[in-house]
Amino acid sequence: MNILTMLMNNWIGHSLTVLYPARPAVTKGYRGLVIFDETRCSGCSMCAFHCTSRAIEFRGAKTEYKWSYDPGQCTYCGRCADGCESHALSMEQACPPIYLTSGALKCSYTIQRKPPAPPPAAAPEPSGNPQQTDSTAGDAQ
Ligand code: SF4
Ligand code: SF4
Repeated sequence: MNILTMLMNNWIGHSLTVLYPARPAVTKGYRGLVIFDETRCSGCSMCAFHCTSRAIEFRGAKTEYKWSYDPGQCTYCGRCADGCESHALSMEQACPPIYLTSGALKCSYTIQRKPPAPPPAAAPEPSGNPQQTDSTAGDAQ
């Protein structure tokens, strides 16, 4: 749509432009900013592996790890969210906000690694053959 058509449509019908800082409406399924839920993250780092744009950075250590996201490098492809088996990532269904300073929307989290789950308790030893116990009891009489 060229500018003259847009101005004509604005003049005849409803406004097709929005005032800053309003975000334009989006359709269903639109992929906006990546939303990170740190409570669900397992620290597997697969999202950083999937992100070829390097918008997600993952730095792991033994006791904690740092997860960071820079929307300035994001192409909104959705591969990180699709590949996160812990469902810790989702895509905002809204047009990304306008920002004036480089890195203004960048966010990072430092997360303590969860302790490994305790090993499952060993199954109790069988207490002997019940039939044998019965015969033993019979012998005693
Ligand atoms: S956000 Fe998902 S894919 Fe990324 S480290 Fe956390 S659990 Fe793994
Ligand atoms: S949406 Fe795509 S480019 Fe953006 S962080 Fe996820 S994988 Fe990287």
